[in-house]
Amino acid sequence: MEKIAFYDAKPYDKEWFDKYNKNYEIDYYVGRLRPENAKLAEGCKAVCAFVNDVVNAKTIEILAKEGVEVILMRCAGYNNVDLAAAKGKLKILRVPAYSPYAVAEHTMGLILALNRKIPRAYIRTRDFNFSLNGLTGFDLHGKTAGIIGTGKIGRVFIDICRGFGMNVIAYDLYPAENSGINYVSKEELFRNSDIISLHCPLTEQTRYIIDEAALRLMKKNALIVNTSRGHLIDSEALLTALNEKRIGGAALDVYEEESGLFFEDNSDKIVTDEIISLLVSRPNVIVTSHQAFLTEEALANIAEVTLKNLDDYLSGKELVNEVK
Ligand code: NAD
Repeated sequence: MEKIAFYDAKPYDKEWFDKYNKNYEIDYYVGRLRPENAKLAEGCKAVCAFVNDVVNAKTIEILAKEGVEVILMRCAGYNNVDLAAAKGKLKILRVPAYSPYAVAEHTMGLILALNRKIPRAYIRTRDFNFSLNGLTGFDLHGKTAGIIGTGKIGRVFIDICRGFGMNVIAYDLYPAENSGINYVSKEELFRNSDIISLHCPLTEQTRYIIDEAALRLMKKNALIVNTSRGHLIDSEALLTALNEKRIGGAALDVYEEESGLFFEDNSDKIVTDEIISLLVSRPNVIVTSHQAFLTEEALANIAEVTLKNLDDYLSGKELVNEVK
């Protein structure tokens, strides 16, 4: 039986992969993949990795030396993989779509929670504080949602926004033809949106797409929501804009320095990252820990497609989910 070394394994990963796995022996490791522990994959045909694993040139070199042939990314994004280093050494396979609904629905959940201050209300009522002071939001109906990236998730989110009676504008480097989407320039989107939601991948062009200059164009009460990748936002510039009351609030499912912090319980540690510490302390910021994908349907699809990717590789089939 071929073996898979499965890094950064969480109980929910194990539950769903064990349910769908029939053909492989899976060694689950709780640590994130990095050069220091890549040797654990010795004798494995494949390594299964996730968004914050360090799949750099060094890791790739060690894995290839240990006989690994494939890296199975159990996610859509692959910005943490050194593709140039992998070329000719290892195949990189991914799960391009597992549930755009999971991410888009969480995005709207974050906006509702932020705008209507639901987490604050929840904390208050548990302490029998039934005051409404400071909990005023605004109607989404009739407001403008600015969507950056109109791919699978962005489109589902556009439908959700339209269901709320919002006017939708969008920016995409590759606008979808005949989609009925009202594309505008980035600057126009920043100026006119009441909520701004990021659904583009992290690339050299999109890194810090929300920077100081973009924040200065936004409405004073604009809400920013990021369920895509942390590095799309300059977090320090965001914190400054929040401190100076230049924007209304932010809901973040991802953070540029989330690696080593998100997905883990740090409650008994001193977190020395001052930016995230200040962001979570603001009343107009909500942070979730990269959980937008976390639905039963998405986890089932991730397990099924990841294992099928390896089946296809081993049986010489066309690799439809290969990243080149
Ligand atoms: P997708 O590939 O279907 O869509 C991405 C869209 O972004 C495309 O329309 C593309 O043209 C556009 N784009 C590319 N470069 C751009 C640029 N420079 N400026 C503006 N738009 C640009 O991807 P998707 O499935 O919709 O996923 C979007 C992102 O969501 C992923 O890249 C990933 O980072 C993130 N994601 C997050 C989670 C989570 O749990 N938080 C889960 C899945 C995906």
